[in-house]
Amino acid sequence: MVRVARVDPEHCPAGSCGCFTCLDRCEAGALSFAAGVGIVIDEGLCTGCGACVSCCPLAEVALRLVPARSGSASEPPKR
Ligand code: SF4
Ligand code: SF4
Repeated sequence: MVRVARVDPEHCPAGSCGCFTCLDRCEAGALSFAAGVGIVIDEGLCTGCGACVSCCPLAEVALRLVPARSGSASEPPKR
């Protein structure tokens, strides 16, 4: 199963307090920051390596690996 990283903007503080820990970890260039949005993940570039998840202080709630699907990677994960 192909997995990709997905961020939950409700739990990621990047949009308000500037965590940004994950941004430097993505060698695939799949992570970016958009003002007013927060962390944005391009699922088309994400390799599912998990490097961002392993450094996220709020992993499992803010950032996690999920099965790939079509659509925007910046959408909150389905529960
Ligand atoms: S799982 Fe890997 S490739 Fe995907 S966004 Fe995180 S660091 Fe980048
Ligand atoms: S490391 Fe986690 S909490 Fe920090 S900006 Fe990235 S997804 Fe958000």
